[in-house]
Amino acid sequence: MLLKPLEIEKAWMKISNFMDIFYIKKSNFGNGLFAKREINKFEKILIFEGPIVTKEKAILLDVKKYGSDIENALQIEKEKYIYPEDPARIVNHSCNPNSGLIQNLTLIAIKKIKKDEEINYDYSTTMDEDSWNLKCGCGEKNCRKLIEDFKYLPKKIQIKYLNLGVVQSFIFEKFLRI
Ligand SMILES: [Zn+2]
Repeated sequence: MLLKPLEIEKAWMKISNFMDIFYIKKSNFGNGLFAKREINKFEKILIFEGPIVTKEKAILLDVKKYGSDIENALQIEKEKYIYPEDPARIVNHSCNPNSGLIQNLTLIAIKKIKKDEEINYDYSTTMDEDSWNLKCGCGEKNCRKLIEDFKYLPKKIQIKYLNLGVVQSFIFEKFLRI
């Protein structure tokens, strides 16, 4: 599959009907993104957009906007984060996800997603911080109970995500070197 440069991709998604892909409603974890129709495997869902910030700046933005540090930032490099705008910010975590991020910012389905199913990805595929974890209550059979850095995932799950290409580039490169 030949991928277009991100700028062209973003423009394409703006003029396409991608808003027909999902809607927002209450989930078990605040708001969530849900499939408006059946979504095919590898279909694009949305692109994360927002200012590039440091972790410290992201925390300040969280406190200013939401009253506490709710960790909205998406890590794209060791010291760099995107502070995502809605709807990307709303996508919840699952230990058994139906989507994942390619090229750092593009959320794609990694399996067929049924209409009205919640869209989610594994936050660990974006994390290499050594500073943050979060209790998980996703309720999946394979729930790890704790969301933490990619390096702490079981090997089998790491390989699955690396093969799908849904691991942030800076983490992917690190693993290639090992
Ligand atoms: Zn879980």
